[in-house]
Amino acid sequence: MATIKAIEAKSVHQIQSGQVIVDLCSVAKELVENSLDAGATSIEVRFRNNGLDTVEVQDNGAGISPTNYETVALKHYTSKLSTYDDLSSLQTFGFRGEALSSLCALSKFSITTAQAEEAPKGKRLEFDVSGRLKSTTIVACQKGTTVIVEGLFESLPVRRKELTKNIKREYGKVLGLLHAYACVCVNVKFTVKNTMPRGKSMTVFATKANATTRENIANVYGAKTLAALVPLDLELEFRPTLTQMVQKDKTHSRIHVKGHISKPVFGEGRQTPDRQMFFVNGRPCGLPQIAKAINEVYKAFNVSQSPFIFADLQMDTNAYDVNVSPDKRTILLHDSAVLTENLKAALNEMFDKQDQTVPQSQL
Ligand code: ADP
Ligand code: MG
Repeated sequence: MATIKAIEAKSVHQIQSGQVIVDLCSVAKELVENSLDAGATSIEVRFRNNGLDTVEVQDNGAGISPTNYETVALKHYTSKLSTYDDLSSLQTFGFRGEALSSLCALSKFSITTAQAEEAPKGKRLEFDVSGRLKSTTIVACQKGTTVIVEGLFESLPVRRKELTKNIKREYGKVLGLLHAYACVCVNVKFTVKNTMPRGKSMTVFATKANATTRENIANVYGAKTLAALVPLDLELEFRPTLTQMVQKDKTHSRIHVKGHISKPVFGEGRQTPDRQMFFVNGRPCGLPQIAKAINEVYKAFNVSQSPFIFADLQMDTNAYDVNVSPDKRTILLHDSAVLTENLKAALNEMFDKQDQTVPQSQL
């Protein structure tokens, strides 16, 4: 029988990194969230060759302090959280200190950064596969941080091959995710660019540091889409479960669904599922049960088209758990079955009311 032995530390790091950064979307998500956590009001995401060659995220946030250069890309080093107890009161997107260290293991990784007092000079930092600082060079740099990820997954050849094969679909998915951030983040200017080999840099979409999500939606999807939307504003009150009653726990009992949805009349919806985005307390996330519930109700009013949906579920931080998977993409909603039933009833009632009000033009 073969002897049991430990996996080499470098391989362990690569395997674990591959669980944090699973695809192109994880790269964009982690870097954009870091920029938002740094208080950026302007974020530019630049792809080369749809992200296959490079993904670059530039922000005008606080920058990285020189005292953190050595540790910034080491595993489990974070400036955002120090004990597990802090998790429940979390205000930032990041908290695991794993994204940058994972990117070091999976790509050629560098950072250019300057804090306000250093600009217009800053540092270019290069890291090795373990996230250790390799070199520091003085460069011209405005206040903020630019992170460059080159050759994603080249250290995991099978993953790289998959990415190359599916790059069009992956690129489409990452744009969908960036649409969601650009729409939900008010007062942040988002720009997304792509450059194809031997081509010119093209702006894919941009927002203008707007004060409302409506203006963001207009920038991303156009004024016509905006004109077809009605506000979503549903207060869902839950009957508490028996356990909650016994424990006198009221935290899960109220959810506010806020956002925008297409009017359920023919012509207002369209067959483009990438126009549906879901958030929990402003954090973009996939919520398949919620998506299914809303689409089902909509179908009863408009059989042939699917709606534009922007739905932010605002709730107590005790009502969900983002710490389920290393890529933080799965959000576990407690009471999800009750929630979807309540949501369907409330949405039905809302559409029913709207249905009875005949537009002026048709009177
Ligand atoms: P986390 O976000 O969980 O803390 P990361 O690996 O994503 O872990 O980032 C590590 C640390 O690097 C952050 O805690 C933060 O201090 C710093 N950092 C990363 N990106 C930026 C940025 N764009 N601007 C300023 N600081 C950053
Ligand atoms: Mg982070």
